[in-house]
Amino acid sequence: MAPKGNDVIVSDRKLEMILSMKGGNGEASYANNSQAQAIHAQSMLHLLRETLDNIQLMEPPSETIPFALADLGCSCGNNTLYIVDVIIKHISKRYEASGYEPPEFSAFFSDLPSNDFNTLFQLLPPIGSSMEECLASDTHRSYFAAGVPGSFYRRLFPTRSIDFFHSAFSLHWLSQVPESALDKRSMAYNKGKVYIHGANEHTANAYKKQFQTDLAAFLGARSKEMKRCGSMFLVCLGRTSADPTDQGGPGILFGTHFQDAWNDLVQEGLITGEKRDSFNIPVYASSLQEFKEVVEANGSFVINKLEVFKGGSPLVVKQPDDAAEVGQALANSCRSVAGVLVDAHIGDQLSEELFKRVERRGSCYAKELIEQLQFFHIVASLSFA
Ligand code: SAH
Repeated sequence: MAPKGNDVIVSDRKLEMILSMKGGNGEASYANNSQAQAIHAQSMLHLLRETLDNIQLMEPPSETIPFALADLGCSCGNNTLYIVDVIIKHISKRYEASGYEPPEFSAFFSDLPSNDFNTLFQLLPPIGSSMEECLASDTHRSYFAAGVPGSFYRRLFPTRSIDFFHSAFSLHWLSQVPESALDKRSMAYNKGKVYIHGANEHTANAYKKQFQTDLAAFLGARSKEMKRCGSMFLVCLGRTSADPTDQGGPGILFGTHFQDAWNDLVQEGLITGEKRDSFNIPVYASSLQEFKEVVEANGSFVINKLEVFKGGSPLVVKQPDDAAEVGQALANSCRSVAGVLVDAHIGDQLSEELFKRVERRGSCYAKELIEQLQFFHIVASLSFA
């Protein structure tokens, strides 16, 4: 008999309570499958530093107030710790260059409540005995750390309390799958598909609308929380095509072998077509124009920089001509970001079956994957108008 998935449908209300990247440090964990994000972040460090240069530093005596920074969508792993370190070192250098002692730093690690904060906190280096010692050493942390659970589409911090917001590879996660994409009576019903890549225009428009509504809510919340002299650096998946049904790299990641693996489960009688159709990946890679429209409509921020940046492949493989390794990298990459949602929708056992099929299919198309799977990112540097 076919193993039965549980009947949890990733309904809109529940998404923010269950969404997280795969926690811990196992093979398919985000911590072990985010080297690509680390590489992409590295290639954008000059843009991050430019944004940090836009912050107006407080002069003493305000230095008794800590410099507060927040990483939104921090997930679990070294990427967030690395970025926080870069930010603090850069700001400290700016203070020193102006002839001031650097202030104390407060770093807020923020993500949805189901994020694996425990593993993240265990990765934090110990705090040093003095600021000078910490700033000079790579083994100590020079900031006070705190975790902030909650959706970045709502308020997370007190009014005018944050000097710098950073968010990388997170804002493409929608707050919910658009209701119409899951509604059989709607033109936007995403029949037969688990992602919008290649979907009909109604589904794509529903996703676009959801993305723009969410981004507007994000900017609305940050415009209250950011200090007037502050700044914000945002990176999320973007696309180069004007057509939202062509999602580019994420389209290949979720719309080809992952999609086919769902179809396999249906054809093998392990799940029904309806069960597949009620699962949709709540990710949207926006175009620059779509992103810009929201920032402009919000009106609180000036755009210091807004561009589409070529990130590269999400697959980090030692031997690109080893088909088995490529298939495994595809399955792990997909699973580290979407595995928790799949588990919630069809249960662990069927999820295991699904990702086995993703791996197998990925191995068969290893060469194409290496050649074609490329991510682009929208990079935005914003400060108060
Ligand atoms: N910034 C990290 C992790 C990116 S993974 C890095 O650079 O590697 C994306 C993260 O965004 C996940 O941890 C996910 O839980 C988080 N996320 C998605 N939607 C969110 C929301 N509405 N509010 C807060 N975090 C969210």
